[in-house]
Amino acid sequence: MLFYFGGHYTAMGVHSIQQGMVSVHRMMNGALDASGRPPGSVSLVAVTKTQPAEAIMEAVRYGQLHFGESYLQEALPKQEALKDHGDIIWHFIGPIQSNKTRQLAERFHWIHSLDRLKIAERLNDQRPSGMERLNVCIQVNISGETSKSGVKPSDVAALADQIEQLPQLRLRGLMAVPQAPDGVHAPQAAFRALRQLKEALLPIPLDTLSMGMSLDFESAILEGATLIRVGSLIFGARQSAV
Ligand SMILES: *Cc1c(COP(=O)(O)O)cnc(C)c1O
Repeated sequence: MLFYFGGHYTAMGVHSIQQGMVSVHRMMNGALDASGRPPGSVSLVAVTKTQPAEAIMEAVRYGQLHFGESYLQEALPKQEALKDHGDIIWHFIGPIQSNKTRQLAERFHWIHSLDRLKIAERLNDQRPSGMERLNVCIQVNISGETSKSGVKPSDVAALADQIEQLPQLRLRGLMAVPQAPDGVHAPQAAFRALRQLKEALLPIPLDTLSMGMSLDFESAILEGATLIRVGSLIFGARQSAV
């Protein structure tokens, strides 16, 4: 529990969200500076799976707008609790089941984990016509692990062409969750490969590389990330293994 007393946090043996956000922003700025990229050229998606709505509210108070959730059933009640914060931008970053696409199409601004045409078509059909186009990224299995979700790099161009035909979707770029090659070092080569894959998709105008998490987002920024997805460094360890 965190107790709020007139602008000061008393952290009862837990992590302070404010401290977490300050250090993530400091690290982001350092990595941008080191790579010669302009300030503000990376956006932070705060990943709040297993965290309560209060934690999201807390981060909103510190100016955070982009939030990422991995499980629809967990996200819906939090979105309901936060419905007065109309400027929150909701990102879905988890595996997509086809029977959940309607709610994803209605409740989220971004889908990072698109990896098949059938899901893209359902999201396109179910995106309400009064809403802006749904921003999507293709999730790429960039380091080729058999157990991972995501499209094979060699299949990305064909899927991108098909998504481009869907009027209610706006294809923004590529997303990946590469593993550390040795469990220690950042997956720099995989981040670079994702950037090169995006560049190879020209002339499709993509502006987004969604890559980098708590342990490796600085490396991802050095390789051109425009959206980083950071959870535990802001909110502390997750409540359960997910
Ligand atoms: C959980 C998750 C994150 C955030 O992970 P942290 O290590 O807590 O920063 C980012 N991306 C995806 C796809 C996730 O599932």
